[in-house]
Parts: sequence; structure tokens; C-alpha cells
Amino acid sequence: MTAKVAIWDFDGTLGHRRRGTWAECLLEVLDTQQPGHGWAFPEMFEALATGFPWHAAQDPHPHLNEPDAWWDHITAVVAEALTRLGTAGPQAAAAATRAAYTDPAAWSLYPQALRVLDRLTAQGWQHVLLSNHVPELPTLLAALGIDNRFRAVINSAASGYEKPHPEAFRLAREAAGPARLVMIGDNPRADAAGARRAGIDAIWVRRNQHTDTPDLDAAAGILLTSTPTRDWRHPALHEVPPLEATAPGALPIR
Ligand SMILES: [Mg+2]
Repeated sequence: MTAKVAIWDFDGTLGHRRRGTWAECLLEVLDTQQPGHGWAFPEMFEALATGFPWHAAQDPHPHLNEPDAWWDHITAVVAEALTRLGTAGPQAAAAATRAAYTDPAAWSLYPQALRVLDRLTAQGWQHVLLSNHVPELPTLLAALGIDNRFRAVINSAASGYEKPHPEAFRLAREAAGPARLVMIGDNPRADAAGARRAGIDAIWVRRNQHTDTPDLDAAAGILLTSTPTRDWRHPALHEVPPLEATAPGALPIR
């Protein structure tokens, strides 16, 4: 019997920072440090739209594989962004980003995440996590009680390769071993198109427009109603756009 391994994105697929991503995190920091600062989401989002490792996924960054080096880089990126924006105290706000962003209390799993993983496990699937994330991802996964679901966790902050870089998918394939592989993620460029370019089928998880919750049940349904043979290809997998047609930066990679 062919082994079956689902390769999962984390952020925006299985879980999310409930209090928002980078822009919201910086606004949270400013709320604490400078009450009444007056900055809002749109300008903060714009200011933070460049400089993070996943904004240049074509460039490996092994020099950032140590957590402190990674955060030194991010802290500099954030301080520069806040300086460009014109906020007061950019260095102090940037320095507080690490603790705020990685606070486990700020993170949640989507309601169906564990149920879907375990339903697939019961049907013979194993799971690998492939994420563009912060160095503290393993700590967050443990705090959320999901770390023990994965045979391997490949995290860009530790590997030096951001999806959709082909090496990120090679590392996932290596961790999965000989198996039928399917990537499941919310980002059409980083997850779906990147996987397809690496020769791995992909399910682009869509969001319920009313709840902003990714439809993991639909993804599991595709996996469980199809027979994963060597030449298997579910019709839904053809919805993924080619990598070339999905501009970097057009969507937040998370
Ligand atoms: Mg994601």
C-alpha cells in the first residue's frame, strides 16, 4: 500500500494569530507604548509589506537560521519600516515585536484543524508541516497541542528556505519519505503553485466568505474520496494557478 502524506501549511490553514498578523501586532505594541498614537491598519500594512524573508522567497537565508539572528534581522526591518512611516520610538516598538508576535495566547487553531488531521490519520494519512514562519513555531505548535500530529516540521526560519522556493518542497519530500504527497494550504502562490512546480499535487484551501475560516473539511473530503494512486489527480487540484501567474506580494504569505 502506498504511504500517504499530507503536507500542511500552518498559518492561515491550520491556525492563525488570532490578534492579527504583523501589522496588527505592531499596532498592538504601539497601543501599549504610545497610547493614542493614531496609526491604523492600512498604513501599517503598507509599511510592513517588504523586507520580511518571505517577501524574497527566491533568496535562501541560511545566515538567519539561528533564532536571535532571525529576530535581529526582523527587528531591523520593522524599525526601518516604522522610521519610514514616521512613528515615534521605532526602535523600542521593533524591539517589543518578538515577544508580542510569539505570545502563544495570541494564537489559535481553526476549529476543525485537529479533527481533520485526526480523521485523515485514521484513514492512513501521515502529516508533515511546511511553514514560512518565525523561529518559535515549534513552541507555538506545542502550546496549541498540535505538535504531536506531525512526523516532521519544516520551518523556513530554521531551514533558510521560504515557500515557494523548490528547496522548501524538497525538504518536505525528504521528510515525508516515499509516499503519495499532497500539499494543503491557503496561499495560491507559496503553497499551491509552489507545490505543483515541485511536482506535488496541491489543494488550495478556500475560505468561507462569512467566517474567514479555511474549508479544511473540503480538503479532507478530496483526500478521502479519491484513491491516491501514482497517477491520481482529483479534478479540484486543477484549480491551482501556475506560479508565474501569481505575483509575489499580491497576497500576504503567511
Ligand atoms: Mg498560510
